[in-house]
Amino acid sequence: MKSISVLGSTGSIGTQTLQIAEEFPEQFRVVSLTAGRNLELLVTQIQRHRPEVVALADSDLLPELEQRLTDVGINGAKAPQLVGGPDGLNTAAAWDSGDLVVTGIVGCAGLLPTLAAIRAGKDLALANKETLIAAGPVVLPELKKSGSRLLPADSEHSAIFQCLQGTPWAENARLSTGVPTPGLRRIQLTASGGAFRDWAAADLEKATVSDATRHPNWSMGRKITVDSASLMNKGLEVIEAHYLFGLDYDHIEIVIHPQSIIHSMIELADSSVLAQLGWPDMKLPILYCLSWPSRLETPWRRLDLTEVGQLSFRAPDPAKYPCMKLAYDAGRAGGTMPAVMNAANEEAVAQFLEERIHFLDIPVVIEAACEQHKADLMAHPQLDDVLTVDQWARQSVREQVKRGARRIPAASLAA
Ligand code: NAD
Ligand code: MG
Repeated sequence: MKSISVLGSTGSIGTQTLQIAEEFPEQFRVVSLTAGRNLELLVTQIQRHRPEVVALADSDLLPELEQRLTDVGINGAKAPQLVGGPDGLNTAAAWDSGDLVVTGIVGCAGLLPTLAAIRAGKDLALANKETLIAAGPVVLPELKKSGSRLLPADSEHSAIFQCLQGTPWAENARLSTGVPTPGLRRIQLTASGGAFRDWAAADLEKATVSDATRHPNWSMGRKITVDSASLMNKGLEVIEAHYLFGLDYDHIEIVIHPQSIIHSMIELADSSVLAQLGWPDMKLPILYCLSWPSRLETPWRRLDLTEVGQLSFRAPDPAKYPCMKLAYDAGRAGGTMPAVMNAANEEAVAQFLEERIHFLDIPVVIEAACEQHKADLMAHPQLDDVLTVDQWARQSVREQVKRGARRIPAASLAA
């Protein structure tokens, strides 16, 4: 029986993790939950899973949570320990009885709880890629020090990880995080192409928030769905793959694969290419993190390639997806640059979702922030440096938006 902590339990990754825990009650028990604002769902989750501790990002909501739990008869000795704020999230992440921590918080907000889990020696199922991207130079040494293992929950990185199990370096592929895997020649990350996959580049001027938040293949949170539409998600995954598997950027490629059946591929020294296939469903990569190195028997719908019919592939158009180049450039610059790019993207996507900028402004404001940061880049940042540049980049984007620095005139924004 493995004890699981779920950070961001009310989100897309969090709820799917809890579905798995419900499907496999003999294998997994949930000991710790953290959530943002969705108390209604959180109370249902507490009723079902009876965790030992529950953390809320906003400690002002604790009295309301306590009242709601009392209303459903969970109080006194029956109630979990309730904690809140940044310290509360860290407490839940490092919770003593937890064996494995699923990081389903969105954005760099996941960084400190992730570090708390690593410092407590927990293994991690990493969904929250922004943490590794922003703070790779901080997270990798901490992993080494504590012996925590970073298991990739992102479907592409799970695919690569699964393929690596079939190589002579399977032992190493235990997540030699940051160290080159010998004999691994190339990674090909597959991308669905996102919401605008079948749009002509010229039509993107008409893109609205509701267009960008409708993903053709995957059902996910709003931020990552917009990142998929801009292909920034794939750019972030390139940096994530660099830190996880130690390959340099010239050997990590992106290929558009509209069916999302092949979840990524690796090429080995002898030119053999290995791929992992499955329906586009995050439950499988999450389950693999939970069961690794074993595999559990599931009743899930089995892949039928005759039903899929065709698998197709094409190179992504750099002019249509400028975020891709921004991510490669930031990854190659290294140090604090990925943190700046990631934070600028988080802020730009938030501004877009609030309809203060247009979809096409997203790469424009990110690029300006990265350009400005070049003079201040730190090659070997500490945690405080990462947190400082993260805040700076968000501010930079907010100021650009305030100044009206837009590619697209305000008049064309959705009314
Ligand atoms: P989501 O928006 O559905 O859920 C986010 C969760 O984090 C919620 O529980 C929310 O309450 C919590 N949260 C939000 N802001 C917070 C804050 N400031 N402090 C603490 N908690 C906060 O997001 P998601 O789609 O589940 O994605 C979560 C992470 O997993 C992201 O990093 C994303 O890139 C990654 N990921 C998601 C998918 C997917 O299929 N959804 C796939 C691959 C990777
Ligand atoms: Mg992914």
